[in-house]
Amino acid sequence: MTYKKKVLVTGAGGFIGHHLTQYLVDRGYWVRGADIKRPEYGASSAHEFELLDLRRFDNALIAARGVDHVYALAADMGGIGFIEQNKGPIMRNNTLINLHTIEAARINQVERFFYTSSACIYPGYLQRDENVTPLKESDAYPADAEDGYGWEKLYAERMCRHYTEDFGLDTRVVRFHNIFGPLGTFEGGREKSPAAICRKIALASDGGTIEIWGDGNQTRSYCYVDDCVEGIYRLMQSSQADPINLGQDRMISINELVRLVARIAGKQIHTVHDLTAPQGVRGRNSDNTMLRETLKWAPAVSLEDGLAKTYAWIYRQLAEAGRVTEVTMNAAVV
Ligand code: NAD
Repeated sequence: MTYKKKVLVTGAGGFIGHHLTQYLVDRGYWVRGADIKRPEYGASSAHEFELLDLRRFDNALIAARGVDHVYALAADMGGIGFIEQNKGPIMRNNTLINLHTIEAARINQVERFFYTSSACIYPGYLQRDENVTPLKESDAYPADAEDGYGWEKLYAERMCRHYTEDFGLDTRVVRFHNIFGPLGTFEGGREKSPAAICRKIALASDGGTIEIWGDGNQTRSYCYVDDCVEGIYRLMQSSQADPINLGQDRMISINELVRLVARIAGKQIHTVHDLTAPQGVRGRNSDNTMLRETLKWAPAVSLEDGLAKTYAWIYRQLAEAGRVTEVTMNAAVV
């Protein structure tokens, strides 16, 4: 069989990497997945899946051997609770992973290297209000990134730039804004707000109460994973070398997110607020002007549709584990 290209997806055992692997296989690429763990929910569709700890350079060299493209998604990461409480491990682990992966790509003479950065690189001083102006790419400097995870991502972005300038390695850098969808972690401490809220509501009874971190007026925008992998692919084909946002620009509060999921679940849900829990920045939204102009494309899946699919998937996981007691789900999500 003839393949379009041979590619490496690091972090292929994780949420976005698992989806991206499937996307690339479906489009005729030969894919090697690399991760320290296999996907939690279902087998990888990668042609080859190697269990490798990319904090070790010898492993990065093995992972990148003989491929044309590298999609670097591996990272020690999680939701705000996790990144607030693990700054040391995150900085050490991710710096090693990123240094080794890009250097292995250079040594293996790959054609193009794709790095997954984050909205967490944007300065705290622009995100102190819930009604924030959407963040555009040039807002990254003067830098005041999210302490720990955000600084490490910004450092890796710079590394891509300098590998291009000094070694001629062609790089693409994306800044994701809150990607969500099925197959994402929904419990255990690394889950993010949409998955956590879906889980809490799935486990709550009709008329029940769930706990929310903060007063719930903090705002975010959310992007469904199918749009995310489509955007990754389009960006990889483009000539856009500078970092670019990939997200939706519909900003909503956590309280609104809870109401949306409750409606999907067909339940009356009350909330209590833990004001001592980590909340991250007060407000954040993505300016997608550059994305639209460069790729002639923008994420299209509505928050309602994406959440319905995500809620249904999380509900099913809980039901299969015998952890939800209701017999039926709301018709919208069956
Ligand atoms: P994920 O945690 O589901 O996937 C990351 C994968 O990296 C995991 O499977 C993990 O096992 C693997 N990994 C960790 N340490 C490793 C190591 N030492 N060697 C090899 N593999 C290792 O996260 P995700 O949501 O799929 O995120 C993918 C990428 O996108 C990450 O770089 C993340 O920082 C970035 N990102 C994600 C979001 C989001 O909303 N999900 C937002 C911004 C940026």
